[in-house]
Amino acid sequence: MADCIFCRIIAGKIPGDFVYQDDRAVVIRDINPQAPKHLLVMPKEHIASLVQTGSGQRDLLGHLIHVANEVARSEGLSERGYRVAVNCGREGGQLVPHIHFHVLGGRQLSGSLG
Ligand code: 5GP
Ligand code: ZN
Repeated sequence: MADCIFCRIIAGKIPGDFVYQDDRAVVIRDINPQAPKHLLVMPKEHIASLVQTGSGQRDLLGHLIHVANEVARSEGLSERGYRVAVNCGREGGQLVPHIHFHVLGGRQLSGSLG
């Protein structure tokens, strides 16, 4: 997707701070971190949102959660804990329409999700 900011980062057209890459997924650091560690786990394939996924994306979604857990471990978050969050659509607070899982950690996160 030529006009998708995350597709442009994945394609190397604009810079990104890459933490992990494999054939299906990439992890970058969030440009505006909300915690000492704030990573974005996303598929290389352009999928706009979680709401666009179905049974055909089950393996990919499982892989993205697995990658989130692995990068949390490699970033030293496993022992103290971390949060994985997906914003979905307008009222879900999603600003970038390329599906991504936030991985947040390195400070005590509040219990509130809203
Ligand atoms: P959303 O609200 O869509 O769930 O979150 C989008 C996230 O992408 C935000 O946390 C925002 O800081 C991050 N973001 C937006 N533009 C860029 C960018 O160009 N590079 C990086 N690394 N993160 C970005
Ligand atoms: Zn995209």
